[in-house]
This record gives sequence, structure tokens and C-alpha cells, in this order.
Amino acid sequence: MSAAAGSSSTVLRLESKVALVTGGAAGIGEAIVRLFREHGAKVCIADIQDEAGQKLRDSLGGNQDVLFVHCDVMVEEDVSRAVDATAEKFGTLDIIVNNAGITGEKITDIRNIDFTEVRKVIGINLLGVFHGMKHAARVMIPNKKGSIISLASVASVIGGAGPHAYTASKHAVVGLTKSVAGELGKHGIRVNCVSPYAVPTGLSMPHLPQGERKDDALKDFLAFVGGEANLKGVDLLPKDVALAVLYLASDEARYISALNLMVDGGFTSVNLSLRPFED
Ligand code: NAD
Repeated sequence: MSAAAGSSSTVLRLESKVALVTGGAAGIGEAIVRLFREHGAKVCIADIQDEAGQKLRDSLGGNQDVLFVHCDVMVEEDVSRAVDATAEKFGTLDIIVNNAGITGEKITDIRNIDFTEVRKVIGINLLGVFHGMKHAARVMIPNKKGSIISLASVASVIGGAGPHAYTASKHAVVGLTKSVAGELGKHGIRVNCVSPYAVPTGLSMPHLPQGERKDDALKDFLAFVGGEANLKGVDLLPKDVALAVLYLASDEARYISALNLMVDGGFTSVNLSLRPFED
């Protein structure tokens, strides 16, 4: 029951669980993979970035407890294959984290919206989640248990926090989460989503290539999003999101389903534009 070496935790919260994380090679997904491993889970990283995914697998001790599968979540067969490979290698699937997502190119005026871009964003952010839910459920239903967690965003509950297609896709993830939770509750399967505010990753800082992020740029990012945040004095980092996902994945959340867990320091719940608390 004690934690893996180097961990500050004292309990393995995912001991003997098997998890699949889409988009697990970088950003928030990578933080989830690392934290899940720290807590004893066997993990499949499913991503389109082969080199980064394999490197992460190797950094976590190689093939024994970590699997990398090339998987484009837009392609149903890829997701199906990743689920099967996970269950075959580790014997089952207890947790899926539908994390892979993109924002899309730019905030586009609705009159000039580019539907090729819209289809791509919906294809990854929404159909990708559908694919993950469908194929995870296929394994989880006979087991009468499981935890399905999808990454939404503050853009799942408000407008103006991202491009139109991104906002539409993330609102839809919440609806899908509630709908599938309604179906799978009778099988003992919990279905939730997690909605972070801005986190410094390749998605939110795309102009900076992975691994070459300059400290100054990170500081600028944190200063900007911190300025707009409700909760001051705390920087939201990938690990904070991973901790929320860990909670929902673990048995500590055994009665939590159909929840959209906001990791936003209150950003979407308060509106201070009337300045009610000014000193
Ligand atoms: P990221 O760009 O840093 O990482 C995304 C990962 O997903 C990458 O490894 C990428 O290769 C992978 N990916 C992209 N398209 C894929 C596909 N078609 N199939 C499989 N893998 C694919 O992004 P992130 O910031 O870590 O975002 C992760 C999730 O969190 C997304 O769903 C995003 O919408 C959500 N989110 C992010 C933020 C933020 O500020 N970073 C805020 C709210 C929500």
C-alpha cells in the first residue's frame, strides 16, 4: 500500500488498476500518465506522437507496466485497437481518460468559419470521446465496474473561452458525459468529466515547441492567465488537473458520476464585472 519511490503520497490510490489515457504523450495527458503510474496503475498511452509516447513509456520503466499504442482518436478502429491491446496486455480496463484534444487554428469569425477546421475539432474533441466511451464500455460492462473520464474545459460551460468549434465540442462532452452516465450507471460504471482553466501545455502555448519552452514565456503565460483568474496566488499546472482526474479514477470517488468537475479556481462560477468586493 505504500507509494512508489520518489512519491510524496503514502497510499497507492490506483493499485492493480488498468488505465488508458488518450493524448497521453504530452501536456495534461502526460501528467495523468505519470501520476497514475505513481499510484500503481498499469497504463496505456494512446497518442499520435509515437516518439514522445515511446520516450515517456521508456522513462517510466519500459514495457512491463506501460504500453504505448499509436492511436488517432478520430479513427474508431484505432481506439478499438488501443482498448483491445490494453486489455490483452494487462488483463482488463478499469479506467479510460479521454484526454486528447485540440483548440483548432484560431478564433474565427462565424461568417468566415472554416468547416474543415470545425470537423477536425469536433472529430477529435467529441467523436474521439465517443469512440473512447464506446470501446471502454464494451470491456467495462461485463466487469460491472469502470471509470470513464473525459477532458472538457472551462469552455464547456461558458462562451468566450475558446474558438466556436472548441466551445461547442466541450459543451457537447458534458452532455455526452451525462447521457452515457445515465446509461452505464446500471452497470456500475461511473462517467465524469474534468474542466480546467488555462494550463501551460503545447495546446495553450502552441507557439513554443515542446521541450524548448522558455522560462520567460512560461512566466508571461502564467502572469496573463493569473491576471484573468478568480483564484489568485496559485498557478494551475498539469499536475493539478491530473490530481482531479486521479480522484475521479480512484475508488474514493466511487459514488460520483455524471459530474463536470471544474478545476478553475471559481473562474466560471463568479462574475466580478460589477466589482462587488473592491477594497
Ligand atoms: P497538448 O496539446 O499539450 O497535448 C495533447 C496531446 O493529445 C498530445 O500528446 C497530442 O499528440 C495528442 N493528440 C492530439 N490529437 C490527437 C489525436 N487525434 N489522437 C490522439 N492523440 C492526439 O494539450 P493539453 O493542454 O494537454 O490538452 C489535453 C486536454 O485538456 C484537451 O482535451 C484540452 O482540450 C483540455 N484542456 C486543456 C487546457 C489547457 O489550457 N491546456 C484547458 C482546458 C482543457
